[in-house]
Amino acid sequence: MKLDESLSALIEPMQNYVQDSIAGNKPAIHLTPMPEIAEKLQVRHWVDQGGMDVAALKMFTDHFLAETTRLRSPGFLAHQTGVSTSGGIIGALLDGMVNNPMNIYEMGPATASIEYVLINWMLEKAGWQPAPWPQDIDEKTVSGAGALTHGGSLGNLTAILAARTQAAPEAWEEGVSDDLILLATQHSHYSVARSAGLLGLGRKQIVAVETDDNGVIMPDSLPDVIQTQRSQGKRIIALIANACATAAGLFDPLRAIGEVCQAEGVWLHVDGAHGASVLLSEKLSGLMDGIELADSLIWDAHKMMQTPPLCTAVLVKNSKTLDQAFEQEGSYIFHDKKQPGFDFIGRTVECTRAGQALKLFLSLAEKGEKGLAQDLEAQTAFAQTVYRWIEQQPDVSSPVFPESNIICFSIDQADPIQIRDALIEDGEFHLSTTQYKNQRFLRMVFMHNHTRLSDIERLFTKIRALIQSAHP
Ligand SMILES: *Cc1c(COP(=O)(O)O)cnc(C)c1O
Repeated sequence: MKLDESLSALIEPMQNYVQDSIAGNKPAIHLTPMPEIAEKLQVRHWVDQGGMDVAALKMFTDHFLAETTRLRSPGFLAHQTGVSTSGGIIGALLDGMVNNPMNIYEMGPATASIEYVLINWMLEKAGWQPAPWPQDIDEKTVSGAGALTHGGSLGNLTAILAARTQAAPEAWEEGVSDDLILLATQHSHYSVARSAGLLGLGRKQIVAVETDDNGVIMPDSLPDVIQTQRSQGKRIIALIANACATAAGLFDPLRAIGEVCQAEGVWLHVDGAHGASVLLSEKLSGLMDGIELADSLIWDAHKMMQTPPLCTAVLVKNSKTLDQAFEQEGSYIFHDKKQPGFDFIGRTVECTRAGQALKLFLSLAEKGEKGLAQDLEAQTAFAQTVYRWIEQQPDVSSPVFPESNIICFSIDQADPIQIRDALIEDGEFHLSTTQYKNQRFLRMVFMHNHTRLSDIERLFTKIRALIQSAHP
């Protein structure tokens, strides 16, 4: 396949795909059984035989696109994955073309340079000191630091590892002991529990901190938990706060939590995978007020910054903590001064790593910080509009006013899982469900601005019809 001919052949199908999705001309979701898809795409045939030419590529692409979940669709309300800007798409394509795994500078100087600047930009958004250029760093430099990594789950793992190194510097050499604990809420993303497991902490080593009825941390309760744990001889690796939590999209009060953590000398890690992007918005950044008091933050660009997956920033206030995370001696941190760039490899789980910064950069370059912020503000405002609309419905209720673009609801006589499954069967709307306040709710997330209130009205008409047919 010639590159130019292949690319040309894809322009029209890609353009149609985007337009049809946005217009809602095609189902948001359409789940064909796996063997049928494998057959239709002739997966085994092409693996065994090779030889795909441009005409076959075009046919394959048509079949492939027909079997995808359309995130741009007005009815796609299920998951927290953003829709890519044109810039982001081009970034992914260019990155695949140059194949510059940039974790060491010599393997991708252009992308590494972009990443260095983007990390500094994100550090500034968090109110932390950006890093000087690599050649200007010396032992006395005090600044923030960060790196991109493949997703929020890996981001949480990396940040918690950095925190563990500070709490238990011996652990890298000796392994973990059972006096180490993490403080988290039951509303933390499951990757926090997984990270704990991966770091060799048992389930019992995650201590739950109290939350209010909405699942938000109560800062006043923290000194007691911290003192109780310490009086039992426990060493606290970190307290993990949500910004925002996955289920209902609520933000923990970071300033009050940060003040307690600073007074007590506890590492505060903020899981901002979904919500940290509010830092781009003057209107919404108050939700992250106090973030500068934290020690580490993760921030997904593939959620609210319209960047193709995966692209997550792990950020720390003190660069030494991230540089020590994977390496106790830290001697290599002050890297070879002759090198013209920077090796991110000391800061990530990955060795070979995609040029993620290029995708985020081209998204930003296209929309600007302001453009991304406006979209996010519109998505949040829309969730609040939908909340008010729900308040008018006698048979629908929502457990909490949405602070972000996530909204949970229940509808009389409906089993959320059955409704979700029936909607998937129908295909126009795709919703998720979540466990919240000891109950299962249907859940909508607005990841783009293609959904109108009239779509939501049609969704509820559909749900009510489904309930009618189940309870005739
Ligand atoms: C999405 C999410 C994660 C996981 O991020 P991935 O990029 O999906 O790995 C972690 N924490 C929160 C709060 C999230 O919303």
